[in-house]
Amino acid sequence: MQADVWNILDTCAFFTQIHPDGKIATTKGIDEEILNKQSKQYYSNLKTKGLKIIEPNKNSIDYIKEKAKETGDLDVLSLTDIKILALGYELQGTIISDDFAIQNVSLYDGLEIISCSGKKIKEIRKWKYRCSACKLVTDEKSETCNICGSVDIFRVKAK
Ligand SMILES: [Zn+2]
Repeated sequence: MQADVWNILDTCAFFTQIHPDGKIATTKGIDEEILNKQSKQYYSNLKTKGLKIIEPNKNSIDYIKEKAKETGDLDVLSLTDIKILALGYELQGTIISDDFAIQNVSLYDGLEIISCSGKKIKEIRKWKYRCSACKLVTDEKSETCNICGSVDIFRVKAK
């Protein structure tokens, strides 16, 4: 690992305090996802030690949204998740995350991932959406099925 590579911290880094040292960054909005006192304290401490809070630019966000749409993860990613990914893309950094959707999009985009828990996906997963009533499979999630109107639509692994 190169010493000057950015490490982009997702929530797990603040909960577990497990992440690489060196150049560390996260995005605004992460502070709303780390709710317990200990994590908040750790977040404040890191800020005094050089943790950078960086907002990715709109182009990076759009780029990541497009990638997440391709893998079928867009629907389960929060705006903060997308910003974490966009920052990883912008800084060509390593993403520290336990979130499988974030890991999946990172992998798909060729970004390095480190997980706090040690659990890491090994291959890219592509997702589609299936209506449980009529079995219609679509690329994008809709509230109700276009064919039968059912609301029971689930994310399924695409073959
Ligand atoms: Zn249907």
